[in-house]
Amino acid sequence: MDDWKTRTKLIHAGARRSQYGEMSEAIFLTQGFVYDSAEQAEARFIETGPDEFIYGRYGNPTVRMFEERMAAIEGTEDAFATASGMAAVNAALTAMLKAGDHVVAARALFGSCLYVLETLGRFGVEVTLVDGTDLGQWRAAMREGTKAVFLESVSNPTLEVIDVRSVCEIAHAVGATVIVDNVFATPTFSKAVELGADVVVYSATKHIDGSGRCLGGVICGTETYIRKVLEPYLKHTGAAMSPFNAWVMLKGLETLDLRVRAQAGNALAVAEALSGHAKLERVIYPGLKGHAQHDLAMAQMGAGGTVVTIEVKGGQAAAFRFLNALEIVKISNNLGDAKTIITHPATTTHQRLPAEQKVLLGITPGLVRLSLGIEDGGDLLADLMQALEAA
Ligand SMILES: *Cc1c(COP(=O)(O)O)cnc(C)c1O
Repeated sequence: MDDWKTRTKLIHAGARRSQYGEMSEAIFLTQGFVYDSAEQAEARFIETGPDEFIYGRYGNPTVRMFEERMAAIEGTEDAFATASGMAAVNAALTAMLKAGDHVVAARALFGSCLYVLETLGRFGVEVTLVDGTDLGQWRAAMREGTKAVFLESVSNPTLEVIDVRSVCEIAHAVGATVIVDNVFATPTFSKAVELGADVVVYSATKHIDGSGRCLGGVICGTETYIRKVLEPYLKHTGAAMSPFNAWVMLKGLETLDLRVRAQAGNALAVAEALSGHAKLERVIYPGLKGHAQHDLAMAQMGAGGTVVTIEVKGGQAAAFRFLNALEIVKISNNLGDAKTIITHPATTTHQRLPAEQKVLLGITPGLVRLSLGIEDGGDLLADLMQALEAA
């Protein structure tokens, strides 16, 4: 299996078949497991073998298939699935930190990720936020006692690309563990582990499901990190992924590569077609030559990703007119879906941020985030163009 290419792993890695030899992965929708004897129950609590399970909060065969498939794709020794992407981010950090530890994180983070860092602060973990694109700031923030580094490899919604390899070198020099939230890079374009990341976290809710059905998350890392650091925390705090959701995610993985490449193709076409449009202030897409980190994005991901961010001239009123005039593109706050989705971050996902922080992160009133789906590219462009006319 180690020789398989990603597209083969997405379909076959981690599969477990019951005695019935089912084609599609089975959903083991069960809270727990029955033992043949009291002695067997005792033995299983002392040591749980690879094909043995105890309780849904600890593990489940369907969930295990999803975890093993994700570890195979990401190139890590092991993985642990969680109830949502935020449960994954929270566990990846909280499981390894204690009062007095120091964390360095990129400041351009998803609002809920910032909330997790604030919570760690309440429990005595010191957090330093830096401009993720400035390696000098990463270097200056690192010190003996820096335990973890946290970043989104491509930031939401302004699509800044962080130099994962360089940040890992800087972090590893002080012995810190690098945790990368890799949602925008997607497992298809991810090379995070190759670039030096120790732990890779995904919200499976996004591209992995890809059809907006379920919440889910996953943490990929070394066997020691997953089994010794993370598993005890997750087992006892209860953010387990439902077996049904794991099954949906397994089905999602089967078509992930096809979807994400089609989405990235639509994203590039839309970004190119909208560049220089009279109604737009700017078009941000790492796949465009004019993007500040275009070369880095290409080296790190091989593509620009599935999200394009644009700034409409005329502020919030014009942005709202644009959103309201769209017919195919849906107004929502998910991303990575087969459907094209548009979001106005300043009034939704990033509403909670104080005004000065919005300015710092470039979240202006005219900014909109477009997550490209897999519809016909020509239809999407026509919809966007007619809505821009209305704006
Ligand atoms: C959506 C998202 C999350 C949270 O995932 P949920 O599944 O919604 O909990 C975390 N990080 C990033 C970058 C995201 O886009």
